[in-house]
Amino acid sequence: MHRRRARAASCYCTAMSTRAMTVASLVLLLACAEVPQGPVRVQALVLSADGAYTPTTVELRTVRDATALEGSVFRFLGGARLVVDGNDPELQQAITEEDMARAVLKGKGQPVTANYIVAEDGVLWPADFHTWNLVTAAFGLERASEYFHTVAQVPPGELGTATVYYFPEFLLPGSVEGPVRDNAIFYTLVQGFLLLPFDRLQSAPMAINTGLLAHEYSHLVFNRRVYGGRRLPEAFTEWSAGTVTPGLNVLKSLDEGLADFHAFGATCLSPGGCNSRFLEASLGESARVRDMAQSHCLTAELRTGLLNSAYTQFGPSSGDYQVGTVLASALHRAAAGDAARQQALGRAVVAAYSDESPETPGLVQLVEASLDAQAGFTLTDAVRALLVHVEDAALRADACHALVDQLQLNVDALAGVCAPDVGAPTLCPALDG
Ligand SMILES: [Zn+2]
Repeated sequence: MHRRRARAASCYCTAMSTRAMTVASLVLLLACAEVPQGPVRVQALVLSADGAYTPTTVELRTVRDATALEGSVFRFLGGARLVVDGNDPELQQAITEEDMARAVLKGKGQPVTANYIVAEDGVLWPADFHTWNLVTAAFGLERASEYFHTVAQVPPGELGTATVYYFPEFLLPGSVEGPVRDNAIFYTLVQGFLLLPFDRLQSAPMAINTGLLAHEYSHLVFNRRVYGGRRLPEAFTEWSAGTVTPGLNVLKSLDEGLADFHAFGATCLSPGGCNSRFLEASLGESARVRDMAQSHCLTAELRTGLLNSAYTQFGPSSGDYQVGTVLASALHRAAAGDAARQQALGRAVVAAYSDESPETPGLVQLVEASLDAQAGFTLTDAVRALLVHVEDAALRADACHALVDQLQLNVDALAGVCAPDVGAPTLCPALDG
């Protein structure tokens, strides 16, 4: 009964942003109507080619229920409560990773209720701020999923339906005072996305930044393929206790850098076009350091950190993001602004996540082979796995050159994949050793 009532369009406009209010005023004369089931055309705030978020009619192709925002790609839940507290007896007593997830998820939340005005042409217009935010987030996640299906050729059904915790209360007592805000996270422990409330970041809420959501969605794909969908990946539990964690540092750098690379690829499918600076709309100019279209080189300091520090130091100093940006930048350079090359590299990267062939092992196979000794999982071996999955010889040669140059790799260690003379640096001064 409740669900039936919820599907009727709501004809009121409360708590709306000024922009949404202006837009909604254009359709006030339209009558209320039932919100249709199945794929719908909705208005969302989409980044246009001129760099502004503009109300735009888009199609949500995978939804079954537009009011609850449920479909094959996502299921939104509001009002969840997550607490990660080392002093929590429930967490301390947890044995399995499922126990841990249950201990952290103090409140599971409930389906959201989106409010729409149904226009005469059948387009649904969000009737309040949260509906604009929700619908646009749904659009971003759906397009990210489409990128992985169409460009990276991930079979339909492999990624499953992701739970999206919308504006949950996320508490980290002991490390963060009060609820965590201003972030969007794929949280492996609960196998879902956290779209956190915003506070300081008000220019473009993360939930409407489709590039940023594609970055997070890429973490889901990496988790499914490289970590086998585990809440606590084995590499984390096996490797994190080391005083130096070179394998873990490489793995996290790959996860971040490849997420940015895929996110860029996903922006190329959006109305605003390819955008290597997609983070800046939400995070401001401080995010410019992750613009992969700029020249980035592995520094001696980063290389030392990668090889000789624990992730507890490397991660908090954003070493993984920095190495990841160098990786993304090299792949971006190899793509050279060509759509077919960009897509071929995106496909090769995802194919390299898992490959059981002994001649061309994927990342998960390399990780498994080094679980007892993480120093065996190296950046060079990971790059080899990416390169052997690039089918086009000319593209592979260009990728070899850019990766060897920018990540300061020893080309001899890539014998059989890269030509011996491909390594002469043209962008980054060679480091000693
Ligand atoms: Zn990330």
